[in-house]
Amino acid sequence: ESNLNGKYTFDNFIEGDCNSLARNAAKAVADNPANTAFNPLVIHGPVGLGKTHLLKAVGNRIAEKFPNKSVLYVTTDTFTNQLVSSIGNNTTNDLVNWYQNVDVLLVDDIQQLINRKKTQDVFFNLFNVLRQNNKAIVMTCDRPIIELDIEERLRSRFQWGLTADLSAPALETRMAILAAKASANEVSIPPQVMEFICYHIQNNIRQLEGVLNNLVLHRGVNQGREIDLELARQVLKNFVTEINREVTPEVIQRTVAEYYNLDVEKLASATRRRHVVLARQISMFLVKQFTDQSLKAIGRMFGGRDHATVIYSIRTVRDLMETNDDIKKALEELERKIRAGQG
Ligand code: ADP
Ligand code: MG
Repeated sequence: ESNLNGKYTFDNFIEGDCNSLARNAAKAVADNPANTAFNPLVIHGPVGLGKTHLLKAVGNRIAEKFPNKSVLYVTTDTFTNQLVSSIGNNTTNDLVNWYQNVDVLLVDDIQQLINRKKTQDVFFNLFNVLRQNNKAIVMTCDRPIIELDIEERLRSRFQWGLTADLSAPALETRMAILAAKASANEVSIPPQVMEFICYHIQNNIRQLEGVLNNLVLHRGVNQGREIDLELARQVLKNFVTEINREVTPEVIQRTVAEYYNLDVEKLASATRRRHVVLARQISMFLVKQFTDQSLKAIGRMFGGRDHATVIYSIRTVRDLMETNDDIKKALEELERKIRAGQG
């Protein structure tokens, strides 16, 4: 495990719209494992979004709050391996008995049940015994249960309780997570560098930690060098392909102007017409995300606007991205075009 992971708890799991249902449900189970309203709880979502973190947080909290309860965390792979070797030793009954006696069973990555008929059989029986005895079961899966290709009788039982999904966090949530991990590791990252990193790492928190690890490493190698945009850009190149090619402000301005059907000069003009203002703000935002230009330099290239105006513009676009689907789509489209324009 990476030294940046620390102990998985609810306290160090940052809440956002992307995970609040799953986090609250997990917490409810941890606070009252005997309440079987959520039994089983299944947390599903793509890799790197916190499934294992939440599952272990349940375990850690129960161990702390209810020291008499036995909690068992296991990955589906480990469970399968234990089963296989117990079959070899003729000790399957012991294994099953042992599992049947836990108070809380936490099973990670149940997609690993696919194609394992024997494991599915044994797990089916275990599941029934535990549930009959009101023992809490929490599981994670990399896909919705309905898409999980396992025996129907098992799948339908997995749907008896509560299912909560984890989705990709919004920019602000990613920044809050990175800020928390940085501070836990006593690393200081300027806010604009943080935003730059989180803008580019969108779908995987583990990658965000990878970037942080690398920044720390580079800083160490470079004897205490500050974590600046240049260093962040260097590290990010190993995580995302789209910033490998240099994007220039000119390409961004040209692409945005074309997209909004404007002359490129309008972006630097004094016009306050609404769609020109929007195009200008979006251009500033993209120049900030894709290039090393300072706020001052950006103001200069957009008709000598001051630093506060540039900050305001970037904020505005960021807010719009979170609240306005059309703008979000426009930005995604623009990013594709900007990258293609570099090709
Ligand atoms: P998964 O099991 O879904 O692949 P993990 O639980 O291993 O993902 O999460 C990957 C990393 O991201 C872990 O180190 C975890 O601590 C971190 N992480 C994910 N979501 C959050 C969050 N909301 N707050 C803090 N850390 C998070
Ligand atoms: Mg996991």
